[in-house]
Amino acid sequence: MSGPTPRPGILDIPLYVPGTHAAGGDIEPAILSANENPLGASGEAVDAVRKSAESLHRYPEGGSIELRRAIAGEIGCAPENLICGSGSDEIISMLIRAYAGPGDEVLQSRHGFLMYAISAKTVGATPVFAPETNLTTDVDNMLAHVTDRTRLVFVANPNNPTGSYISGAELARLHAGLPEDVILVIDAAYSEYVEDPDYSDGQELVAAHENVVMTRTFSKIFGLAALRLGWAYAPSSIIDVVNRVRGPFNVGAPAQAAGLAAWADKAHIAESRRHNKEQIARVSGALDQLGITVPSSVGNFILAGFGSSEKAEAALDYLMAQGVIPRSVAGYGLPEYLRITIGTVEENSRLISALTDFSES
Ligand SMILES: *Cc1c(COP(=O)(O)O)cnc(C)c1O
Repeated sequence: MSGPTPRPGILDIPLYVPGTHAAGGDIEPAILSANENPLGASGEAVDAVRKSAESLHRYPEGGSIELRRAIAGEIGCAPENLICGSGSDEIISMLIRAYAGPGDEVLQSRHGFLMYAISAKTVGATPVFAPETNLTTDVDNMLAHVTDRTRLVFVANPNNPTGSYISGAELARLHAGLPEDVILVIDAAYSEYVEDPDYSDGQELVAAHENVVMTRTFSKIFGLAALRLGWAYAPSSIIDVVNRVRGPFNVGAPAQAAGLAAWADKAHIAESRRHNKEQIARVSGALDQLGITVPSSVGNFILAGFGSSEKAEAALDYLMAQGVIPRSVAGYGLPEYLRITIGTVEENSRLISALTDFSES
């Protein structure tokens, strides 16, 4: 043996495969693979990034204090209960780094967001998956998989890639069944899209307990995926711990400036929500007509069920050849489905027309 060797377990980590942005040929692709906002970022945020270009030689204010003040003022907490990250992925990873290690377990649902399991493995912890019911987190199954070794429980609500959610009451029941030393992390990356009255992003659970964290992102409805910006609301005891593993300048100045502007541009968020609501109904209805199964989704994406993994792969190949890029979710244990982001009106037309041709072929 020669050469540097990573810690045990690192080479067993499957590489996260992001949604691809490239199709074949020279057609302008319809990128429906990464749940980005098809309307783009707020114009105010774009202006803020341009302005920040004047100070690229300066280190950012490392604590994202202005952005935390703006968010805190609106959700009704203290800025000290918020932390910003280079995407919510970084916050997920910092939480796991701070609270889990070899021998510990990190619990999530069977088809839950994969970054939790990947992050758990980077610290030598063991990801544990609880079975879902109807592609939805099952609180009883989650509680049944809690052991003495469980350190963190992650629930993406709504979940990616299934698009399903559990109610605020179910979240509270999950929390009530957990030991006090286990952290419940509610990943509300798509919460801005959800209008169902029984939904909660989990804020009230954070406010009332010492072991609940809510994470949010600027990558989805805010349309700032390129900048990498996310935040979390947590008890100050947890914020204090996570700040100890956080790099001092983890969020760049352009990201902070854009986040502040995007947060304030409520019209852009409302328009993005309206567009998604209209187009998710249109796309779901059209696919349903084609005999493609579309489980109900409250996010900005759908699962398209083709009945078998062979058919889903054929659909993927067909769509890619037409310059329409969906996301394979075989890695999520859903090989008979493709995940498809709701795009612009024109992109959705291309998707529907390509799937119509595919179904007839
Ligand atoms: C997209 C997504 C994230 C966010 O990622 P960022 O790192 O903030 O870009 C987090 N959780 C879920 C469930 C997601 O789908």
